[in-house]
Amino acid sequence: MGMFPPTIGKELKKVYEAVRKETGEAICLHMTPNSTDCPNCHSNPDGESTNIYDESFVTPVEIYDNTITPTSFNRGRCPVCKGKGVLEQDVEKRITAIVRWNPSGAGDSKGDMDITAAGIEGFNNVLIKIPKCYYNDVRDCVKAVISNIDCKLLVPPVLRHVGKVDVVAVAFFTSIDPGHSSNG
Ligand SMILES: [Zn+2]
Repeated sequence: MGMFPPTIGKELKKVYEAVRKETGEAICLHMTPNSTDCPNCHSNPDGESTNIYDESFVTPVEIYDNTITPTSFNRGRCPVCKGKGVLEQDVEKRITAIVRWNPSGAGDSKGDMDITAAGIEGFNNVLIKIPKCYYNDVRDCVKAVISNIDCKLLVPPVLRHVGKVDVVAVAFFTSIDPGHSSNG
């Protein structure tokens, strides 16, 4: 890579930014949700609900923009946390990415295709390209919604650099099999 004049990387980076702004797609990254202990029930040492009402909870509290009111119960799951022991708040980040579904190789660099080979056969793979500043968000997301399809990261994103310039980050996702959804 040392053969490139230092300006090449900068120029390429500008091209990627222009393409992203012109043709990019808004995608939604779902990060690890915020989580706090349920005030309405006692939890066991693992943080799970014992489904026993916490008699000490008498004053409504504000948690994640919701007012949680003490709700006594004698049987079944805690009605506030549904037996989870915690209350959660979704954390979403919306970013604009260059998105390509099921990349065939035409127009892709060889390095991109190496990652494609790790894809899962029979699933829809999607390649995204984003600026380096989103690298950690993409690496740490629990799932991404791309073109309205739930996707999971296949392998950690890769930074492509030319010389000392980080030109773009490339990540591969695969659609989550709807047959594995948790209904039932
Ligand atoms: Zn609870």
